[in-house]
Amino acid sequence: MKGKCAVVTGSTSGIGLGIARALAGQGVDIVLNGFGAPEAIEDIRKDIETSFSVRAIHIDADLAQGEACRALIAQAIAEMGQVDILVNNAGIQHTSDIVDFPPERWNSVIAINLSAVFHCTAAALPGMRERDWGRVINVASAHGLVASVGKAAYVAAKHGVLGLTKVAALENATRHITVNAICPGWVLTPLVQAQIDARAARDGVTVERATVDLLSEKQPTRRFVTPEQIGAMAVYLCSEAADTLTGVPLSIDGGWTAQ
Ligand code: NAD
Repeated sequence: MKGKCAVVTGSTSGIGLGIARALAGQGVDIVLNGFGAPEAIEDIRKDIETSFSVRAIHIDADLAQGEACRALIAQAIAEMGQVDILVNNAGIQHTSDIVDFPPERWNSVIAINLSAVFHCTAAALPGMRERDWGRVINVASAHGLVASVGKAAYVAAKHGVLGLTKVAALENATRHITVNAICPGWVLTPLVQAQIDARAARDGVTVERATVDLLSEKQPTRRFVTPEQIGAMAVYLCSEAADTLTGVPLSIDGGWTAQ
């Protein structure tokens, strides 16, 4: 995949970083995006360049804003020449009963987890169409397929991502452009660690106990999915072997949605 360029949103941490590293391992140049301390981001960027002999840049963009999403893709094209692979991964969580769900938190979850996917995809597709090749990978969730209490905005956004994935797949079906969604179960990232810590505090148990409880409740394997495993799935979706795989949610959830 040498010579191709991928934008991976939310790639300064967790799953996005796992996907960025896996694609870089295939020779893909990487545009990182996401928040963090500038020195930590620079360490991540340099490490990708030296470990995989690819070009890696970081573009700061707050994907809560539609214009910033489109500007991210425009800047990626300006600096890297083209965007062949778009991984819409950035996401946030907020848990609360619907009645108490703060409207501003609803708006941010929908903006970052759903609307950003629309804006980034719309901005990246014209170049992919010109070259008649592209891959859009949306990191949805098991919560794109099934619900849990307390996650109104997240579940609504992730179900929306699956709908958007199907439309974008159909609109590009005659080209060599595929659009798919990856639906992970629990992955131990800062996003989930916050939920484990909240659970430990709520139940008055240790973090270790809360971790076991969290996994046992939903994920039959009782093992976390890893960012590396999701990265390998993204690599497969970018391969020629997956040229006719489009418009689908691919679960990697330890049996969560088999129940
Ligand atoms: P994470 O918190 O480790 O990483 C999130 C990334 O998104 C970070 O790089 C962060 O800086 C970035 N980000 C957040 N808000 C942003 C914004 N406004 N603009 C730009 N970047 C922003 O989380 P993660 O667990 O790696 O989650 C990544 C994706 O995977 C999310 O879409 C999440 O919903 C999804 N997911 C996670 C799990 C899990 O168990 N961790 C399961 C299923 C799906």
